Amino acid sequence: MSSALRSPHSASHIDLEFKCLVDQEQFTANSENEVNIFTDGSKIEGKVGAALSVWTGAAEARTLKLALLSYCTVYQAELLAICRAARMAADNLAGSVGIYSDSLSALLTLKNPKAHAGLEGNERADHLAKEAALKSKRAFDYDSCPVSFIKRSIRMQSLDEWNQRYRGGETSGVTRVFFPDAIAAYRITSKIRVDGLVTKALTGHGGFSEYLYRFKCKGSPSCVCDPGCSESVLHVLLECPTFAYERLRLENQTGVHLTEGNLCEIIKNKLSRELYLQYCIKVVKAVNIRNKN
Ligand SMILES: [Zn+2]
Repeated sequence: MSSALRSPHSASHIDLEFKCLVDQEQFTANSENEVNIFTDGSKIEGKVGAALSVWTGAAEARTLKLALLSYCTVYQAELLAICRAARMAADNLAGSVGIYSDSLSALLTLKNPKAHAGLEGNERADHLAKEAALKSKRAFDYDSCPVSFIKRSIRMQSLDEWNQRYRGGETSGVTRVFFPDAIAAYRITSKIRVDGLVTKALTGHGGFSEYLYRFKCKGSPSCVCDPGCSESVLHVLLECPTFAYERLRLENQTGVHLTEGNLCEIIKNKLSRELYLQYCIKVVKAVNIRNKN
């Protein structure tokens, strides 16, 4: 039977209420229950745990530690602990039960660090939740996957597959000089303002003689500097003497000597990347203009 069918009729729903207790005094005034249950969730060293600390009067009567699969969130852990406490309260026919969670008070603490609850029971539940996360060797008590984890996994999987195709691919040779790795490329290109000239500089696809010759748009692949030298994007950026002045200026600004081997390092660094892209735009623009004639 689905949970919707098991729910009570809407007319018999009860309104849930909670109180915010910010110090021990407020807790004492609101803890006239036969049983008080403190709940907490914790994520530590990539492991997730939840715990309950059950008190009758001033003494801890029992504890319950729950282990969650590592992809679970602290939010799920907090809710699991509250859910188990509610179940415990429903089973306890003896009398009144108070359930305490510091999930909301953690948010209040961020707003006002002085208002930390610091209740003894909360501290205890926090300690137990960390223990549950770190030391549990039992089967997991909770394994429902958060949607955020699935989204992240799918993104990582498709990036991984893209990377494998990219690294093993025959094409995109020039781009691989700048970005040996598709995942790093994905991170960096999101920070670059990519326009037509930058794309030409990073792919070699555009108005370079070698490229134009390949598509029969030009009679020769040669560069103006030397008839025996092919005008590829890497030639104009790294070797061509017609851009020696701009290249030297860039090398003085970045302190890096431009070679095919260190282009990927230049692209990684924010400052040298900006300067390098300005240089690329200038060179590619000049080459495009001279090849139009
Ligand atoms: Zn040249």
